[in-house]
Amino acid sequence: MPIRNRYAELHPEITEWRQDFHRHPELLFEVHRTAARVAELLRAFGCDEVVEGMGRTGVVGVIKGRKTDSGKVIGLRADMDALPIREVTGLDYASQTPGMMHACGHDGHTAMLLGAAKYLTENRNFDGTAVFIFQPAEEGGAGGLEMCQDGLMDRFGIQEVYGMHNSPGTPVGHFAIRPGVLLASTDEFYITVTGKGGHAAEPHEAIDTTLVAAHILIALQSIVSRNIDPLKRVVLTVSTFVTDSTANNIIAHQVRMEGTVRTLDPECRSMAEERVREIAENTARAHGAQAQVTWEQGYPATVNTPDETAYAAEVARTISDHVDDNTAPILPAEDFAYMLEERPGAYIFLGNGDSASCHHPAYNFNDDAIPFGSSWYSGMIEARMPLDG
Ligand SMILES: [Zn+2]
Ligand SMILES: [Zn+2]
Repeated sequence: MPIRNRYAELHPEITEWRQDFHRHPELLFEVHRTAARVAELLRAFGCDEVVEGMGRTGVVGVIKGRKTDSGKVIGLRADMDALPIREVTGLDYASQTPGMMHACGHDGHTAMLLGAAKYLTENRNFDGTAVFIFQPAEEGGAGGLEMCQDGLMDRFGIQEVYGMHNSPGTPVGHFAIRPGVLLASTDEFYITVTGKGGHAAEPHEAIDTTLVAAHILIALQSIVSRNIDPLKRVVLTVSTFVTDSTANNIIAHQVRMEGTVRTLDPECRSMAEERVREIAENTARAHGAQAQVTWEQGYPATVNTPDETAYAAEVARTISDHVDDNTAPILPAEDFAYMLEERPGAYIFLGNGDSASCHHPAYNFNDDAIPFGSSWYSGMIEARMPLDG
């Protein structure tokens, strides 16, 4: 079966919403205009309940099926925020806000989910309750976590949750998913090494912090090569290295390093943290200096549960002949991970065609993908909560 026919009719309208969001990008939790528009449309469709202000600026719409005897409640999620990037697409609906753009396609995700909400309010061809989740601050603000902390899952009784992201470089209409880990966890670390500054010609009177930090920098690279199981994937990058020396006759007193660790495996994640601390603190101590390590946990890994992944792929197969249900995991992170920590569910990729990559200033969401995305969202509701089930 191809895309649902109704979406061919709705396509121009959904495209209009999408391009309007594109014209008016907003960052992180400041998605006030977008959230207000989403809530307005959900009310206009006739949603049974629309709640604003969850997780600060998140919006939730509830649609009850023709029957609710099954007692089932399924959540569908889209993200609404844009990025601090200056757009270079030259589109007639390009960003009207300098320095901000929808460079990750969240304008498309939001529009496709709205399309599914419109379709389902018209038909209500299911036995249960559909919860439409529009979250702020996916791009580094953990808006999904805030919505969860605001009681999203319990308040609406959500039992399963599904999300989608466009995939540049994958043909439009193709889907990709896998059971288990799909996207990485991401953590940041900050190391401050303090020795003893001094004259470059009198190193014996100083503790050369630059040399100590250099030992730490190199030793950190042994974590991935010597501590982590070679069959597992971990990235450890030290991204900045700044000394407080400003001249070639000064030995630095303090050096600051910043880095990131990405992994697909929670055990590797905690081992990396432990080893970064041990190596930094003890290497510094061995040289008579001190290292202070600050570890900031970012998004956890996005882990699809097996049964729900199978349902998601099955629904995708009703829409498309091209469904890869064992795609390779990738190392960006995604804050839908927090919702998957609370409920079983799955995250799926939808082809965006031959576009620039996400977070590139020439990126644009592909409106041709809309009928596929909306069909999948509403298909999850109709297939998981069938009327004759
Ligand atoms: Zn992004
Ligand atoms: Zn994104």
